[in-house]
Amino acid sequence: MTRPKILILGAGYGGLITSKSLEKLLKSGEADVTLINKHDYHYLTTQLIKTGAGTAADRQIAISIPELINSDKTHFLKAAVSSVDIENQEVHLEGGNTIPYDYLLIALGFEVDTYGIPGVKENAFQIRSFRSSKAIYHHIIKQFNLYKEDSDPSRLTFVVAGGGFTGIEMLGELADGLPNLCKQYDIPFEKVRIIAVEAAPSVIPFFPKQSIQYATFVLEKRNIELLTGRKMLECTPEKIRLENNIDIPTRTLIWSCGVKGNTIVQNWGLPIEKGKIPVDACLRVKNMNNVFSIGDCSLFMKDEKNALPPTAQVALQQAPICAKNIVATLRGETLKPFEYHHKGSVASIGLMAAVGKVGNFRLSGLFGAFMKQVIEARYLFNLGGPALIIKQHFGVSREPVKVTAKQ
Ligand SMILES: Cc1cc2nc3c(=O)[nH]c(=O)nc-3n(C[C@H](O)[C@H](O)[C@H](O)COP(=O)(O)OP(=O)(O)OC[C@H]3O[C@@H](n4cnc5c(N)ncnc54)[C@H](O)[C@@H]3O)c2cc1C
Repeated sequence: MTRPKILILGAGYGGLITSKSLEKLLKSGEADVTLINKHDYHYLTTQLIKTGAGTAADRQIAISIPELINSDKTHFLKAAVSSVDIENQEVHLEGGNTIPYDYLLIALGFEVDTYGIPGVKENAFQIRSFRSSKAIYHHIIKQFNLYKEDSDPSRLTFVVAGGGFTGIEMLGELADGLPNLCKQYDIPFEKVRIIAVEAAPSVIPFFPKQSIQYATFVLEKRNIELLTGRKMLECTPEKIRLENNIDIPTRTLIWSCGVKGNTIVQNWGLPIEKGKIPVDACLRVKNMNNVFSIGDCSLFMKDEKNALPPTAQVALQQAPICAKNIVATLRGETLKPFEYHHKGSVASIGLMAAVGKVGNFRLSGLFGAFMKQVIEARYLFNLGGPALIIKQHFGVSREPVKVTAKQ
């Protein structure tokens, strides 16, 4: 008798942790598990800002997937999914291959939302993947080199659009990273402008007042110009235009104004709501028994009106329950509804400061920065135990991740 085939699409937070949970839950020979991802590395999405600003080594952010899984239990396939045929239970890959499945998990993550603002899609940089973040850093280096030739100040003007959680994290990393580049290129740091553009009246507008004040204080102290209450209207390769005809000459706009579900899933005959795949309480795609979806590409309603936000915290809590429910379906057992427990959120502002809330405690400053490191280390621990934390932080040599920097 052939074994049931479980196929997991996407090795981000949701897909990878589901495959690792399945390794523990499935009995030997009970099912064949295949994990498909377009790269052979898993990247720490929450740390991509560091890749963008050059404040972390590649090996700290991107980890080879074969190093993270048990190859006796999970088969890894490096491939880009092009479509899913729900009726015939098969997945089509770019290049023409087809993989059949009995149970499917779709965990293909997010895409950056540019809201149709003219020029943003074509000219702005995105913190979306390891590759797109690497492209930001390569572009910054190029601007430093070109500034040495033409002294054009727009080359050293770095704009981050969006003063939310990711935006202030990116600003903090630029404030940490750019002074080093200035030293390297022998350019006074005073020549560099780091600008935040935010349509709301303040940065991190959804945080408590004290946190907003603290974040504003730290960013301004680091000479970041905060243009709050200003909408961006257009972006060209040489400038951005804000409301009231304000132009800022810049060659670098980093777009950090929000995400949407991966649009690739929209033409597969699946139900789609608000651009995402709606799932039931047990994380199954609505009205389907053998197709599951978690993380940023799925829509889980926490009550009648509100969906869970697209966060790593949600994907990481969904993954082990999803694995249990895939196994329960396979065994004909009762499925478990998913319950989300919000543990808090912490945004770093460079290495030495952070702001946020964990449980009932408001965090800021150095202690906040320490807690952010603890949160990241906890994820690495779950992924690969203490050995992975040591490898990541102390640079134990291993196969370098190969990546080409393009969007
Ligand atoms: C800069 C930044 C900072 C963040 N900070 C936080 C934070 O502090 N806390 C928090 O909770 N959340 C944070 N988030 C949000 C969090 O990273 C996402 O919610 C999380 O990554 C979602 O996990 P996922 O598994 O759904 O998708 P992803 O992690 O995006 O994984 C999707 C995977 O699918 C792969 N893939 C996509 N398309 C295809 C295809 N066609 N074929 C094959 N493979 C494909 C991708 O390569 C990727 O490996 C942050 C996000 C960003 C960008």
